[in-house]
Amino acid sequence: KFGSWKEVIDFAKKSGVLFYDFRFSDIGGAWHHVSYHSDSITEDSFKGLPFDGSSITKWQPINQSDMQLIPDLEGAFLDPFTADVTLVIFCDVYDIYKKQMYEKCPRSIAKKALEYLKSTGLGDTAFFGPENEFFIFDSIRVRDDINCQYHEIDSNEGSWNTATAQYNDGHNLGHRPGTKGGYFPVSPRDSQVDIRAEIVKTLHQIGLETFVVHHEVAQAQGEIGVKYGTLIEAADNVQKLKYVVKNVAKRHGKTATFMPKPLFGDNGNGMHVHQSIWKGGENQFAGDKYQDLSDFALNYVGGVLKYARAIAAFSNASTNSYKRLIPGFEAPSILTYSAQNRSASCRIPFVSGAKAKRVEFRFPDSTANPYLCFSAMMMAGLKGVQDKIDPGKPMEEDLFELSLDEIREKGIQQMPHTLREAVETMLTNRAVFEQGGVFTKEFIDTYKELKFEAEIWPWEARPHPYEFLSTY
Ligand code: GLN
Ligand code: MG
Ligand code: MG
Ligand code: MG
Repeated sequence: KFGSWKEVIDFAKKSGVLFYDFRFSDIGGAWHHVSYHSDSITEDSFKGLPFDGSSITKWQPINQSDMQLIPDLEGAFLDPFTADVTLVIFCDVYDIYKKQMYEKCPRSIAKKALEYLKSTGLGDTAFFGPENEFFIFDSIRVRDDINCQYHEIDSNEGSWNTATAQYNDGHNLGHRPGTKGGYFPVSPRDSQVDIRAEIVKTLHQIGLETFVVHHEVAQAQGEIGVKYGTLIEAADNVQKLKYVVKNVAKRHGKTATFMPKPLFGDNGNGMHVHQSIWKGGENQFAGDKYQDLSDFALNYVGGVLKYARAIAAFSNASTNSYKRLIPGFEAPSILTYSAQNRSASCRIPFVSGAKAKRVEFRFPDSTANPYLCFSAMMMAGLKGVQDKIDPGKPMEEDLFELSLDEIREKGIQQMPHTLREAVETMLTNRAVFEQGGVFTKEFIDTYKELKFEAEIWPWEARPHPYEFLSTY
C-alpha cells in the first residue's frame, strides 16, 4: 500500500526496480501493458502516460487516438515473471478530448459504480468475493471435424476463446480422475498439487491472500480461493489471479484456461461471486429474515435475479458461456435463490455472524470483465433495493430435476441460452446500467457492437461439427 508517488519511487529504488509496467484492461477484460525504464520515471510521469487508443479494440478512431493512462496507487505489485525487477501499476484511462475519465475504460466504470452506490445513500462499500475456476491442460488440441484436422492451440499466444472442443490424447495412465471424478482424491489422481502450490505461493508473493486450494470436480480442473475485497480491489485481484495461473502453467509447459466449458460432458469453469453491501461499517445484508438476511439483502437478490438475463451480457460474456449454464454440472440455469443449494443461481452460504453474511451468485464465469460484471450486478442489486423487488420464495429442491413443464408452470425465469439472447436482453434493460451515467449510452452501444461483431456473428455463421452427425 502506497500513500504517494514519492513513496512508490522510493520503494522502487530500494527494491532495485528496473522497469515500471503500466497496465489497463480493455472492454473484453484482457490486460494490456506498457513499460518504462526506471531512469525515465519521475513523479511527473504519474500524471499521465500517452498511448495509442486506436489500437485497442473498439476504443478510439485513428484520428483521435491519443489517450492517457492515469496510474493508480492501489494494486501495485512486483511482477513475479519478469527477468528484471518490474513494478506493475494499475491504470485508468483518461479521455483528453472530452476531458474526463474514458467512458470505455472498465476500471473507470467500476469507480463510477462505486460513486453511484454512495450517491444512492444505500451504502459506502461493496465487497466482492469471486471464485474463478480454471483448467490446467497439457495442451489443447481442437479436433476440427469439418476439415478433418487437429488444431494445436499455441500455448504462447493462443486465444482460448477460439477453442471449440478438447479431446483426451489417450495416454490413460490408470490414475486419472474420470469425468466428474476430480473432487478431490489425493495424488497421483490429483496431479496438480505442486503446480497449484506454486500458483498459491506466487499469489501470496504479490499480496493476494488465499484460503481453500483444491482440485475441482472436472478432470484437470482447479480452484484457489482468494480473499474477498472491495469492488475495485476484487476486480484487480481477478486480473492478477488469471495472470499468475496462466504464467505458472506456462512455466511448466502447460496451459491454463478459464474458458467456461472446454470439456463436453464434464463440469465447466464458473466465477461465483459473493457479495455484500456495507454502510458506516455495518453489513446491510445481515438481518432477521430468511437465513439471517435483511430485507435489504433479499431485495438486492430480487434485483439481481430480475435482471440476471441482462447482466449475463457482462457476467457470461462469451458464446461458450452458455454451454456451461445447463442442468447437471453445478452451474445454474434457473433464476431462483436458496440456502446452500448449488443448483440455484443464488445461494446463501452457511456462515456465522453478521460480518460474514453475504449472498453468492453462481451464474457468472471468468469470460466476464470483472470490472463490468461486478458493477452491473451491483447496479441491478441496488435497483432491487430501491424498487423493493421481492425475490419470491426460496427453492430448496434439486432444481436440476425440474422438467421444462414444471419450470414453465412455476413461472421461473431461466438464464439466457445464447450470448445473443443475453446481449439483446441487456439492451432492453439498459436503463438499469445507465443509472447515474455509470455505463454510458455510448459504452453500451460499443459493447453490443463488440459482442456481435467479434463473437456472436462469427459463431452463428460457422457450421458446428455436431450438425454433421445428422443424416440430412
Ligand atoms: N464448476 C461449477 C460451476 O460451473 C461449480 C462447482 C463448485 O464450485 N461447487 O459453477
Ligand atoms: Mg469455491
Ligand atoms: Mg468451485
Ligand atoms: Mg462457490
